[in-house]
Amino acid sequence: MIKCQICNNPDCIRVAEEVLDSIYELYTACGNCGPEPEWNTTAPLTTIIDIHDLSSTFLLCSSCGRRPLNAVMAHALSIMIRHGERDEKSGLIRTGTPLIYRGFPIMYPPRLGPDSLVLIVDNTGSQTAQDIVEQVPEIKGVILRIGDQAKSVGILDSNSRPHEYSLLAGCDMRCDLAQSAFGELVIYKNQSKIHIEFDNDHKMQVLGSLDIKGMLGGRIVVDGMCGPGTLGLMSMLFGAGKVIFNDAWRPAIENLLLNLEVNSAILGVDVEPVLTITDLSLIGDKPVQVAVVKRNGRIAAEVYFGDLRYLPDYIDGCDVCLIDTFPAIDPSEFANIWAKKYSSSRIITV
Ligand SMILES: [Zn+2]
Ligand SMILES: [Zn+2]
Repeated sequence: MIKCQICNNPDCIRVAEEVLDSIYELYTACGNCGPEPEWNTTAPLTTIIDIHDLSSTFLLCSSCGRRPLNAVMAHALSIMIRHGERDEKSGLIRTGTPLIYRGFPIMYPPRLGPDSLVLIVDNTGSQTAQDIVEQVPEIKGVILRIGDQAKSVGILDSNSRPHEYSLLAGCDMRCDLAQSAFGELVIYKNQSKIHIEFDNDHKMQVLGSLDIKGMLGGRIVVDGMCGPGTLGLMSMLFGAGKVIFNDAWRPAIENLLLNLEVNSAILGVDVEPVLTITDLSLIGDKPVQVAVVKRNGRIAAEVYFGDLRYLPDYIDGCDVCLIDTFPAIDPSEFANIWAKKYSSSRIITV
């Protein structure tokens, strides 16, 4: 059992095999579920339903104990309207952005059970968020968006200030499925501190084309701005000889270490901590090694916490360096530094 550092709930974090076992049926309607409430999400909610008698039994399926997404969002919006943080004319679309707790691309409106949604909101106070988490069973956490929607959460390097959203209530831990030809992994993230990704397809395509060129199997792969670890962990599944993870944002490394543990059976690895990361500052500068990952006694991965620009001096070799910066950032500075030290290595910006 892996304990969630945010909520301490033993059910919050499950190992990857357990998640993968149940995920594809998690959100489908049961035989007794009512019809989908296909409401106009821009029309005032008050013109569609009476928001005064909304409770956790509203549109609840008595067989499977789940509700349609629209019912859950309507319940949350009714609480926001009651607190005066949304006006009476608000449509469902004004509630916020729902992120499914165990996320994968689903092509149908989901049916949600308890603790299955993290809600990202604008203009909402702590008390309202608290009421939403207490009264809407499906919502496990409410995160306040800070700044422009286009501005990514996290940091670029040790000179930049971190950009974080704020966890108003509940727990912001959730996971996404990463799927490739070599298998599936589960990637957890504290969503108030980690960049929101809606699909991993692009990353998997980059890895797929590297693999075809023989640049992953048996190679030393650096995941230079690893975040919670999607690229590097998947590279391990693709058969990389060694993966070197690095990030300068401590919450990202904390999530990566969790993801190594969650996926350890699938990857066939053991994680050995080198030092306690919570003792370190929030933003890394000169890289320090925080963990070594072994497979059958041999080193399969190393985890560093620090600025990517210094990392070349701390490692022994590199065949491929993957650099996944935020969309608005030009990665050429990093690419140039790496090209100087490891001239034969390939720098791939993702
Ligand atoms: Zn939790
Ligand atoms: Zn049902």
